[in-house]
Amino acid sequence: MLGLFALTSLRSLKQFSDGLEPQENKMPALFMGHGSPMNALEDNEFTLGWQSLTKNLPKPKAILCVSAHWETRGTYVTAMEKPKTIHDFGGFPPELHAVQYPAPGSPELAKQTAGLIKKTEVGLDYEWGFDHGSWSVVKRMYPNADIPMIQMSLDHYKDARWHYELARELGELRKKGILIIGSGNMVHNLRMLNWQNPGDKYDWAEEANTTFKSLIEKGDHQPLINYTALGKPAALAIPTPEHYLPLLYVLGLKEEKDSVRFFNDKTVMGSIAMTSVQIG
Ligand code: ZN
Repeated sequence: MLGLFALTSLRSLKQFSDGLEPQENKMPALFMGHGSPMNALEDNEFTLGWQSLTKNLPKPKAILCVSAHWETRGTYVTAMEKPKTIHDFGGFPPELHAVQYPAPGSPELAKQTAGLIKKTEVGLDYEWGFDHGSWSVVKRMYPNADIPMIQMSLDHYKDARWHYELARELGELRKKGILIIGSGNMVHNLRMLNWQNPGDKYDWAEEANTTFKSLIEKGDHQPLINYTALGKPAALAIPTPEHYLPLLYVLGLKEEKDSVRFFNDKTVMGSIAMTSVQIG
């Protein structure tokens, strides 16, 4: 009896480790709908969503964030030891301008990332830092600022497919304990913000959000890459691509076995979707 028990336990242990090992060694990738920079300070359903998400993630060795708010000609990664906190917005209270996120940079990860990408030459940047696309979210996830972080820029002159393909080359980092975050908003139209009735919903925004989610769920990425052919709701949701492209980076990182989970799935002020996606 004891022998049989030992054999069974050994088998189940093996099954357990076979099933778990790749998951354990591979970090998820996250698309974070960041919304207002005030989320860095306010407690609301979205920041609660970010905080509870972190509790269920393995602690990353470092973070690579592709933010909607860093567009360049060419692709760059921040490579300084101590990135500064950039307050790249106007019209917000002094408390928000006073926020610092003193997480260290990682020149090693910057070099490793640049070396990994074959699609283009990636420049090492010593000028940028953390813009609010990264710090307003990551500060709520990792308030101790003890996880090194680098940012990767969006090449403004490249199309959606190019960004998606570039992302696929970053997959290796997930196996090295690096948490890759794309920070933007899949529906983001600032001109259409409903200041008068912020709780009201716009049909086009809800429809675009639903269409994007359903394609993401099915793993049908081609229409999401060719989003300009998705009709009027998508055109209103993506008047300019910079808040949408970080989503394509995260989708580009999806491997066949990766699960997909949505959270913070809600629009605010009519025209911004906070909808976020966890891959893996
Ligand atoms: Zn933004």
